[in-house]
Amino acid sequence: MTLRYPSRLSLAQTPTPLQALNRISKHLGGPRIWIKRDDLTGMLLSGNKIRKLEFVVAQALEEGCDTLITCGGLQSNHCRATAYVGAQLGLNVHLILRGDKPDQMDGNLLLDALAGAQISSYPVIEYRKHLDQLLVQWSQYYREQNKKPFVIPTGASDEIGVWGYVSACEELKSDFKQHQIEPRVLFVATGSGGTQAGLTVGSELHDLGCQVIGVAVCDDEKYFIDKVTSDLTLWQKRYDVDVDINSINVIVNAEHIGPAYAKATPEVFETIKLLARLEGIVLDPVYTGKAFHGLLTEILNGNLASESDVVFVHTGGLFGLFPQKQELRF
Ligand SMILES: *Cc1c(COP(=O)(O)O)cnc(C)c1O
Repeated sequence: MTLRYPSRLSLAQTPTPLQALNRISKHLGGPRIWIKRDDLTGMLLSGNKIRKLEFVVAQALEEGCDTLITCGGLQSNHCRATAYVGAQLGLNVHLILRGDKPDQMDGNLLLDALAGAQISSYPVIEYRKHLDQLLVQWSQYYREQNKKPFVIPTGASDEIGVWGYVSACEELKSDFKQHQIEPRVLFVATGSGGTQAGLTVGSELHDLGCQVIGVAVCDDEKYFIDKVTSDLTLWQKRYDVDVDINSINVIVNAEHIGPAYAKATPEVFETIKLLARLEGIVLDPVYTGKAFHGLLTEILNGNLASESDVVFVHTGGLFGLFPQKQELRF
């Protein structure tokens, strides 16, 4: 299907490789696992957010904006990617972060500061209650300075960001062809829903034949079904795409959230070690570790016994591992 894409910047290193994980697949005794290496979309821009930011920041530039305002957790990969997009394009970046700033800067937060992003952090309760207001207030502040602010929502998950993973589905289509596989199941971590939204509708539009399973890392099943559906509905309307969003099946597995967002069980850390040792690929404890652990659990429970190939999208997140180093217990 030919889609009319909106304007887009070229920021991500794409196409990313699709690789077979033969040793861990054999170890688990299930289908062959293929990994889409979106952890390799860049170094400082690495991970899934940059695919969405290619479209979102293109929109900001089209509107003549010079300041990007966005938000997330203290160790947000999305905020870090935005900070570096800003530094690379010569835009101001202001990050509204959730949680008290730690004494020691580490991981993504350290990189945010290094890139010169303005950082305002708020206690969790205040952030949850007043995020929308904070974004409005900071936008107002920049307008008063004669700047043109552009607010990017959490994770760049909105109707513009959806395009990032619609486009990635074109890559997957050609990956599958090249490797001569027809996987029917794809796993991905879901945190703000935009990646799952793009993959789910993109799989439909590009006839990938894959069921997209979003493994939630926070919130619950209903929350993400509603979020993905509403992002897709706005996207369909805004760009007048010829697809019926009501007929799209949004599948969320909320069994691997663990204690909380950014808090993982010891089993998830064991899965991170296992993949590092068997395949030389590192997951993170906030997103990909939980999602891969979800895939591994499905395989060990025999739920994927009828599949010959399954796909896992590695969405990045390496820098978020370092602030949790003590959890690895060496
Ligand atoms: C943000 C993020 C996700 C989740 O993607 P969403 O589009 O926010 O659902 C997954 N993995 C990593 C490493 C992320 O940073």
